[in-house]
Amino acid sequence: MKEPRFLTDGMLGKLTRWLRMLGQDVEYTTAMADETLILEAKKTSRILLTRDIQLFQRAMTRGAEALLIEGMDEAENLADLATRFRFRLQINLKTSRCSKCNTQIRSVRKDRIIDRIPEKTSTYYNEFWECPNCKQVYWQGAHWKRIEKTLRDARKALKK
Ligand SMILES: [Zn+2]
Repeated sequence: MKEPRFLTDGMLGKLTRWLRMLGQDVEYTTAMADETLILEAKKTSRILLTRDIQLFQRAMTRGAEALLIEGMDEAENLADLATRFRFRLQINLKTSRCSKCNTQIRSVRKDRIIDRIPEKTSTYYNEFWECPNCKQVYWQGAHWKRIEKTLRDARKALKK
């Protein structure tokens, strides 16, 4: 199966960040007319993800690939998408994309980014990743527990 690529509308900022961290290729758009979104999805062969039922139906009648996002929370949405597109609900930073700009992140030496992270972080952590495009730095810090919890919930939702 070809790797799916997605286009998300302005309501799905959070889901977009999750999918990118999971390594999915997601283009995020804000303040775009339905018509523009549908054309963009078709032109770039991306699957349009939206919570907007009217936009979803319009996209379908216009021959764009689209999926209506209906879950109650991120875990449910991620479980639905992982089932449908067969990707793992596990973050591997080697394949993650920047949650801000969708560029593939890469491992970076601590001394290269030390001036861009809090001092405590540089004391406690040794593995860092960086977005070559927007220079955002990533590490598996204290916030990682929450990330893992959501993914565990998502994996539970899978089995239902
Ligand atoms: Zn970036």
